[in-house]
Amino acid sequence: MKCYCVVDFKTALKMMDQPTPEPKGAEVLIEVRAAGVCHSDIHIWEGGYDLGNGRTLSLKERGIKLPMTMGHETAGTVVAMGPDAKGIEKGKNYLVYPWIGCGKCPACVEDDLENYCAAPQYLGVHRDGGYADHLLVPNAKYLIDIGDLDPAMIAPYACSGITTFGALNKVGAKTFQKHPVVIMGAGGLGLMCLALLKAQNGAGAIVVDIDPAKRKAAMDAGALAAIDGAAPDAAQQIIAANGGKLVHAVIDLVGAPSTTSLGFDTLIKGGKLVIVGLFGGAAPWPIAFIPMKALQIIGSYTGSLAEMRDLMKLVKDGKITPIPVHKHPLADADKVLTSLREGKVTGRAVLTA
Ligand SMILES: [Zn+2]
Ligand SMILES: [Zn+2]
Repeated sequence: MKCYCVVDFKTALKMMDQPTPEPKGAEVLIEVRAAGVCHSDIHIWEGGYDLGNGRTLSLKERGIKLPMTMGHETAGTVVAMGPDAKGIEKGKNYLVYPWIGCGKCPACVEDDLENYCAAPQYLGVHRDGGYADHLLVPNAKYLIDIGDLDPAMIAPYACSGITTFGALNKVGAKTFQKHPVVIMGAGGLGLMCLALLKAQNGAGAIVVDIDPAKRKAAMDAGALAAIDGAAPDAAQQIIAANGGKLVHAVIDLVGAPSTTSLGFDTLIKGGKLVIVGLFGGAAPWPIAFIPMKALQIIGSYTGSLAEMRDLMKLVKDGKITPIPVHKHPLADADKVLTSLREGKVTGRAVLTA
């Protein structure tokens, strides 16, 4: 099999020929039809996250071994399976749930929240992912039938879809159906978040982005307003767009000091700041304001397998307006990753076989 691997951090992806795995037990081998290129792949490729105050989280120290194949948004066709793989059929197309846990820690065993596993085995992060022509999935239970839907349209739901779905679940339908939500960042995640709000009868969103092209994309996708986060009066503009009222919830898909502080400043007492983005840096809020405003600051990381199934039900019921997907050949993996790093991708880039 061919895969496009990280052989060294911050170095071009390299095409490698590796033996095609033979599935054992409950394992499944899929032929990859589509692999989404996600912004978090840039952090993996760079080998770490900025923790602020001059510190970084090193993925090497976290046990990520090279070479590795990225790609956690994968859809494909089942071509082989072990004798214990149940509930799937050869020749059919599936979305792969990549946020796989160890199966032993409290998050995995007690809460069914493998995405919060203490020793994660995420595909495309800790185990080889979808920037390849084949992918070994450790258990058939992580495959979700997509029927006749286009794998390239479906692949991004495994990360950008479930991540925004999980963040919206933390805001809660009671809140987002009654009040507009502020979304920081109008890239692929922002557009997905808009689509999921609409699919769940949301009251709409005020989107913030510093890029005029992305603000336009957000307006085209039905945002109530799109505001330049770099404007000195950005907070006042957000409040004005919300009818002069402070907002109930902010979903920060960027996760930079500038976006979290802007979100913080626009929230009503008791409001929720859900942080999803991994841009990095140090928290900028005065701690005393957190209790004084009784704010809830919540981190959200992808979503559970149950959430993945709930989301795919919305997709299959045709409730979600598809976000723009741009298809590229698998061989362009490195080029696509570079354009994403340079901020040149609108919507979602997907590698297709
Ligand atoms: Zn991702
Ligand atoms: Zn676990």
